[in-house]
Amino acid sequence: MSAPPAETSVCARCGREFEPVSGDVAGLCPECRATIIRKAGLWGRITAFAITALIGLAVLVVVRPERFLFLWMAFLVGIYYIAFKVSRRVSFDLIREREIETQEVE
Ligand SMILES: [Zn+2]
Repeated sequence: MSAPPAETSVCARCGREFEPVSGDVAGLCPECRATIIRKAGLWGRITAFAITALIGLAVLVVVRPERFLFLWMAFLVGIYYIAFKVSRRVSFDLIREREIETQEVE
């Protein structure tokens, strides 16, 4: 039961050596991870906004809410929140895979 030695990993994206953080499964240095998280956050917002707009439009056209408008608003906020969480996570994986794939030379 010995603690794993503090060794450096090589970033899968830029090839720089870095000290792995516990819980890091991406194999990326902090800078690359921050970059990808920022991109994923952007895509997450774009996707979530598009999804929310579509559902909001569908609600307007199909349901034609005249009452409980604030409930529909809350519903859409919830949709946006969930869509953002999911698409940010998916975006992160997609961006990570694509950006690592381009430099497979080791
Ligand atoms: Zn890196």
